[in-house]
Amino acid sequence: MTQAPVISVRNLVVEFATRRGILRAIDGVSFDIMPGEVLGVVGESGAGKSVTGSAIIGLIEPPGRIAGGEILLHGKRIDNLPAEEMRRIRGRKIAMIFQDPLTSLNPLYRVGEQLIETIQTHTDLSASAARARAIDLLAEVGIPAPERRIDGYPHEFSGGMRQRVVIALALSAEPDFIVADEPTTALDVSVQAQIIQLIKKLCRERGTAVMLVTHDMGVIAETADRVAVMYAGRVAEIGPVRDVVKHPLHPYAKGLMGAIPTLEAEAERLVQIPGSMPRLTNIPKGCAFNPRCERVMDRCRIERPEPSDPKGDLSSGAAIMPGHRVACHLYDGGAK
Ligand code: SF4
Repeated sequence: MTQAPVISVRNLVVEFATRRGILRAIDGVSFDIMPGEVLGVVGESGAGKSVTGSAIIGLIEPPGRIAGGEILLHGKRIDNLPAEEMRRIRGRKIAMIFQDPLTSLNPLYRVGEQLIETIQTHTDLSASAARARAIDLLAEVGIPAPERRIDGYPHEFSGGMRQRVVIALALSAEPDFIVADEPTTALDVSVQAQIIQLIKKLCRERGTAVMLVTHDMGVIAETADRVAVMYAGRVAEIGPVRDVVKHPLHPYAKGLMGAIPTLEAEAERLVQIPGSMPRLTNIPKGCAFNPRCERVMDRCRIERPEPSDPKGDLSSGAAIMPGHRVACHLYDGGAK
């Protein structure tokens, strides 16, 4: 891809001040997302995926703060903007889709009113033109009989239909970037697939960049172009989704990929990674995964691995695709 990224995250550090001291929730995360690209961000709860999303959209609440690094939207820094300016960017250039549609929808207002208000905030359209645009958007996200449903209240929609309305709302300002945080977790499996396909299709057509945050590797495999696997506030592995799913390198990513359920063989393929992710108060020195890693070496307990192009132990024999990077000493050329 030769285009410029929509979003660039550079060495992001997010800290939370607590009574026990400063906790580092994100520690040196970097990635780009290109126009029309879906970057899946996956990891266990507490890995830092949602905090990364919140940092990008400027919604880290105190006592949390961005303590280092940069976030750029179309090459311009947005991590240091005054709150009011960031609010405007959030409305216009960046949209959010959360797990619970009622985070985004006001239950007291008809969905049409909410859509029309957002459309009119961002365009010069008259009330009737904005209503027509809202109906078009509802149709585009697959709401049947949109000219009638536009006057319904959120509670009159099923969970899946409500999430479609939220997607219409997110698209109504024609954003360049969408953060979708567990957008399908609350939905039935069959509805999940439809919503995921919808987000993917709309973003492709519109050139919108998407950061899809989920703990579900199956959702990532279906939707994302690239995937970043996060562990304990850092990117353990990042690369084209097919390559990372088929040829995961990092021992943690290997465990996660083993956990992708398939419809036929869900039970057999669920792999458990022994142990659990460390608490932020107790991140191990060196590689944070070392207490759980079957391939741990002495240096893993001392030196922190940085994401880099893999060298050395590519035992799968696979040709690793460009842009596939891993933070693990097994692949930095120094493994014994
Ligand atoms: Fe395991 Fe060492 Fe790689 Fe960490 S750096 S994942 S401990 S082999």
